[in-house]
Amino acid sequence: MPTRRATKRAQVQEHLEKVWSRPKEDAFPDLIAIDPGDRWTGVAFFKESEDGWECIDAQEFEPPQSFEDALAGLLMLDRSDGQPTTVVYEKWRLYADHAQEKTGSEFETSQHIGVIKYLVRIHNEHVQRHDAAEDQGKMMLCEQQGGQCADPNDRPKFINLVKQPADIKKPTRGILNKKKIKSIARPIAREYFNNRDHVVDAELHGWKYILDTLKGKAAP
Ligand SMILES: [Zn+2]
Repeated sequence: MPTRRATKRAQVQEHLEKVWSRPKEDAFPDLIAIDPGDRWTGVAFFKESEDGWECIDAQEFEPPQSFEDALAGLLMLDRSDGQPTTVVYEKWRLYADHAQEKTGSEFETSQHIGVIKYLVRIHNEHVQRHDAAEDQGKMMLCEQQGGQCADPNDRPKFINLVKQPADIKKPTRGILNKKKIKSIARPIAREYFNNRDHVVDAELHGWKYILDTLKGKAAP
């Protein structure tokens, strides 16, 4: 008989699997890039292999619920398929020329960013608790049988949270063109998301970080 906690977790998992329709199971992302928006949030998934980095998939969410649940699921629930270790997001600023049109706005974009920061923070606090317990030779509750971290492969890994300004998109597009790196997100946007730019923008943010910081090369 599964414990009540395990049953509850299975139900949550089932719910999340519906929300998080991509990426496909066999392509678990090492890096997630997010373009948060007032209405739609674009997410691009990247994977690193021996050959280099590639964008493997992209999904657009209609905030608030679906995206926030999906991120929580990806970071906090079943980690046995893999775990992202980098989360990149586009930072949000209110510029003077947009101040007028934003009058009365509840700034949903900035609320989504708050959730991203919070989820990554509690995830990383969990990592730190494991590190501290290991140093002291203690075992955490979550490591006991039936617990979330009972399988050593499911232990949470530290996530590097990165924010990038919006103005990197145009130059990054130029660099990708020069390197002949094709957009994976664009055809997905065309087929599933009315050709809106959110997943494409997310993809640009992912590449910006990979090419600059991880000194990453694109898989051929
Ligand atoms: Zn744990």
